[in-house]
Amino acid sequence: MSTPLSRLRNIGIMAHIDAGKTTATERILFYTGVSHKMGEVHDGTAVMDWMDQEQERGITITSAATTCFWDDHQINIIDTPGHVDFTVEVERSLRVLDGAIAIFSAVEGVEPQSETVWRQADKYKVPRIAFVNKMDRVGADFAAVLDQIESKLGARPVAFQLPLGAEAGHRGVVDLLGMKAVVYDDSTLGARYREEAIPVDMQAEAEERREILLEAIVEDDDDLAERYLEGEEIGEDELRAAARLGCIEMRFVPCFCGSAFRNKGIQPLLDAVIDYLPSPLEIAAIVGFAPGDPDEPLERPADLKAPFAALAFKIMHDPFVGNLTYLRVYSGTAESGTQVFNSTSRKRERLGRLLRMHANKREDVKRIAAGDIVAAVGMKNSVTGDTLCDKREPVVLESMQFPEPVISIAIEPRTKADQDKLGAALQTVSVEDPTFRVRKDPETGQTLISGMGELHLEIIVTRLLREFRVEAAVGRPQVAYRESVAALGKGESIFEREIGGRGQFGHVVLRVGPNERGAGFEFEDATTAEQIPREYVPAIREGVEESTERGALADFPMVDLKATLLGGSWHEVDSSEMAFKIAASMAFSDAVEKATPQLLEPIMALEVTMPEEYLGAVINDLNGRRGKVSTMEMRGPVQVVDAEVPLATMFGYATDLRSATQGRATYTMQFDHLEPVPANIVDDLVKKIRGY
Ligand code: GDP
Ligand code: MG
Repeated sequence: MSTPLSRLRNIGIMAHIDAGKTTATERILFYTGVSHKMGEVHDGTAVMDWMDQEQERGITITSAATTCFWDDHQINIIDTPGHVDFTVEVERSLRVLDGAIAIFSAVEGVEPQSETVWRQADKYKVPRIAFVNKMDRVGADFAAVLDQIESKLGARPVAFQLPLGAEAGHRGVVDLLGMKAVVYDDSTLGARYREEAIPVDMQAEAEERREILLEAIVEDDDDLAERYLEGEEIGEDELRAAARLGCIEMRFVPCFCGSAFRNKGIQPLLDAVIDYLPSPLEIAAIVGFAPGDPDEPLERPADLKAPFAALAFKIMHDPFVGNLTYLRVYSGTAESGTQVFNSTSRKRERLGRLLRMHANKREDVKRIAAGDIVAAVGMKNSVTGDTLCDKREPVVLESMQFPEPVISIAIEPRTKADQDKLGAALQTVSVEDPTFRVRKDPETGQTLISGMGELHLEIIVTRLLREFRVEAAVGRPQVAYRESVAALGKGESIFEREIGGRGQFGHVVLRVGPNERGAGFEFEDATTAEQIPREYVPAIREGVEESTERGALADFPMVDLKATLLGGSWHEVDSSEMAFKIAASMAFSDAVEKATPQLLEPIMALEVTMPEEYLGAVINDLNGRRGKVSTMEMRGPVQVVDAEVPLATMFGYATDLRSATQGRATYTMQFDHLEPVPANIVDDLVKKIRGY
């Protein structure tokens, strides 16, 4: 039987690289596994064995979602990518989870890049609890991290615990609600712990912190606040229930601490997940829209009786069963073996085998229901971001607007066998990651892959070479330019030829002009059937559309332009679709030449964070990269610079920035918009691209 919704938690773990996400996740899976068979665990060796096996199998951490159980509750842990190059993935994973644990290092504190993910979580209204990890390290400072959560993230951190000893003396935690100390037993890797009285020398601090905690908990509940102020002793359960509301409504962030590596503080963190993070019933119903009508919002509540709706949030290749499509079910139920509707691709999809992924096993499930996170085996028609729903009640949960790739790299397989391997590998990767594109350069025959940033492509290339064992030469990353036109231009072409004893005739007059930025390509037919018989119009359109794939300046795809078919003529016998298609393509080239062809470059939104003394160096450097600084501000102790800067000047920025700031600065960068390359450099650039 599946877990009732109220006892389900779908959570993510957010952390800056190296804060301890992997270690904490391992420990969570370890203790939840242990608790499942607690009876067997009598000594440290049993515990140790269990952990070794887990690590050998290694499936725990690589799964996109892992289910575990704690205190009669089911917790699904959804993997959240840590790097901002994968904005779309981060945002999607934030959508499918209901609450999150934010892990911070007690030494490094709130690092600049965690801010980005934190703000995205704000945007999606994801309630959070914080875990201050690495309390065992030299320099660990719980209170300082809480201050940073406030000053850098603008949140309201409230300590629910205090560390019991820090650095080498870190033994456990002080629970400020229960007013007791929890000390971990090292010989069982912390699986066992005992409660003690709070040490005398911490008593005063604990009382003081508890007061702050209770005030935060009761302040939004008049009845509780009154009773508290009158000096009534309020029971722990009641306080916990009120704190739960405070966390879910995001009035404050409950903060916990410990050391994942030294096995301290993880079990109370699991308790906190259950006590303070929402079940699917406690979050707002997801809002999608009617297929084909993005303006008509449709809600899907977490209700078993509502129409079935689920989002495919991740596809992963699995060596044993092939592709696994991870689904978050938002409403209704569906059975394995039945048909559902993919409202994004508008195709039918069969729900085949459905798996719940545990740390150490996979469990077949027959029925999936609102709140569930499961992996579906062998889906044919669905990619990441697609909605699956009841055909009679269609809804689209995510609009598929992925940012255009801005950077590309050429890959040349060594042998024919590698070529085949590459094809299959690219197929797999593009299903998993819709922000990544593959294109074949028709002239050079090279395979070009494009993506969202240098790091994004680097990771894909590494996968191709290592995981898929493709042997290939890899080019240098190049900017994915686009082309367009700046003015109106009219073109005309007559195609008249004799081919194989038969005449061919087509005559096309058309106009091209700029379209709004982001509007893409548009084709309009302004002719009558007398001018051009209707059956030839699709061929003309096709001829034009194919021609947009290679621009006039440097063969980059053309975007944001409008072509209008103005006129032409035809021949009773000799006209054909082929003749019109060729004429259209020639007329288009003619028109583009007269319409002031333009080279467009990706402009990136850049945010650099640094100690103030490096501000001058950073700004100077940006000026040399054609950067335009839009804002500069202090955020807590650090200076933050926002700028727009052409991607073309940003290769190797990570290294340059590191050396200009002794490694004290960090940055995030994402595509913002396309802009014409400035007139004074466009000619040289085109020459360089064309290789002369
Ligand atoms: P992730 O990048 O967030 O997944 O971080 P990891 O879990 O991989 O941890 C990064 C490094 O920090 C590893 O070397 C861990 O062993 C170490 N680490 C993690 N948690 C702790 C901790 O509580 N104390 C100490 N001293 N080291 C830790
Ligand atoms: Mg990790």
